[in-house]
Amino acid sequence: MIKLERDFTPEFFLREDLKSLTIEFKDSGKAVWHHPEVKSGCLKLGHGKCAFCEVILEEASTYNEVEHFKDKKKYPDDVISWENLLPSCRHCNGSKQSHDVVNSPIINPCHEIPSDHLFIRGYRIRGKTDLGVQTVEVLNFNQREHKFIPRCKAGDVIESSLDDALYRLESYLKEPSVRRKNILKNKIEAILEECQKTASFSAVSATVLHGSSDYIQIREAMIANDIWTDHMQKLHDNALLIRLPEIR
Ligand SMILES: [Zn+2]
Repeated sequence: MIKLERDFTPEFFLREDLKSLTIEFKDSGKAVWHHPEVKSGCLKLGHGKCAFCEVILEEASTYNEVEHFKDKKKYPDDVISWENLLPSCRHCNGSKQSHDVVNSPIINPCHEIPSDHLFIRGYRIRGKTDLGVQTVEVLNFNQREHKFIPRCKAGDVIESSLDDALYRLESYLKEPSVRRKNILKNKIEAILEECQKTASFSAVSATVLHGSSDYIQIREAMIANDIWTDHMQKLHDNALLIRLPEIR
């Protein structure tokens, strides 16, 4: 989970008939939020991912749902309030169900910084505050098939890619060439891109990256050899902002 910035408002929420849509929902239960602009606004807010588990939402198996953070039946006045909507995969949406976030709060990724409340140990996400513990429980964050295993895979990709990058670095240092330098630079940039907020499971990938001794070694050597770029540094800093604390 990463912090999301709700710094825009889709056109749909500027309509004058929002109040009548709310009344329509109260009267008939009609899914008044079913509108392409609502869906695309939610997707943009979450960088195309579930606001909770960070799975990419375009994939068929994780289809995209508009999540009412405050349950729509308990809090019908917020059924079409932009502030109350988040993009969610069906697994997170299904786990959360009608949980009452007002009486029993969980992390709202638009309000709280997830790394203040969560940590990772062995690819399992745990709470380090009451809010974190409640979030992990309500969202079933360590469910094996849809949460834990995909998270392990994302982390393994980063670890294995760093191992390959270390091999590329050693080849370059042994016998420098422009070709070897470019392969190394492209490899590192690709790894850093996987740890940006637009990538799936970015909090996990960024945590693995910044906890890796291979990565520290590669970065130090690239800086020493003047092949670490400003762009790489920017990606490095961005990843640092979204990583979760890691307790081994
Ligand atoms: Zn999810």
